[in-house]
Amino acid sequence: MRLGIISDIHANDVALRAVLDAIGDHDIDRLLCAGDLVGYNTAPNTVIELLQDHDAVCVQGNHDAAVGDQGLAVRFNPAARDAIEWTREELTTVHQEFLAGLPLRFHDEAADLEMVHGSPINPLEEYVGPDKLSSAFLQHQFDDPPRILVTGHTHVPHAETIEDTLCVNPGSVGQPRDGDPRASYAIIETDGPDVEHHRVEYDIEQVVGQTREVMGDRTAERLRHGR
Ligand code: ZN
Repeated sequence: MRLGIISDIHANDVALRAVLDAIGDHDIDRLLCAGDLVGYNTAPNTVIELLQDHDAVCVQGNHDAAVGDQGLAVRFNPAARDAIEWTREELTTVHQEFLAGLPLRFHDEAADLEMVHGSPINPLEEYVGPDKLSSAFLQHQFDDPPRILVTGHTHVPHAETIEDTLCVNPGSVGQPRDGDPRASYAIIETDGPDVEHHRVEYDIEQVVGQTREVMGDRTAERLRHGR
């Protein structure tokens, strides 16, 4: 089975359209999204509709959860919190319910694939970067580690095989933070399993303009630098 893997779209519809276009060439069986559909940018409703149109399997990210939970929103930095509050007003009721109803974890039996936004034990908060990944980490997180673990949240693409588990972070579609401003996604071939990372250019200036008007300079500028 060939899977398209995306994460951290953050209401950037222009980047998402570019990624969906590019993924169209890979002949995937299914699209998976590791959370944070909304926050930071200004097209949360469009992003949700695009994912629904593509039958994407999504888990809930911390921004998705905070839109429906005032208590969670307090834990964010001011720029992120402003975006969450704006998003709460902007989203249709149906889309708010969609985000609130997303599961924290997704497991695919056939591929033995587990997907979460953060970590399996702490799906909304823990950052799983290369510094965290180890066999001790997997043993701590799982009774029986899966063949494939997909996480998001760091906005930095990464892949590493630890014992029998392929750990994949596809990076971020809508707000990359590895210094490359292009939208990021991954393709997983579950038979290997194997993974390929990909980057796609999109009209960053269009989004910078929209985001600046609503979210301010800092949240807009970082799109240009991939930080
Ligand atoms: Zn995120």
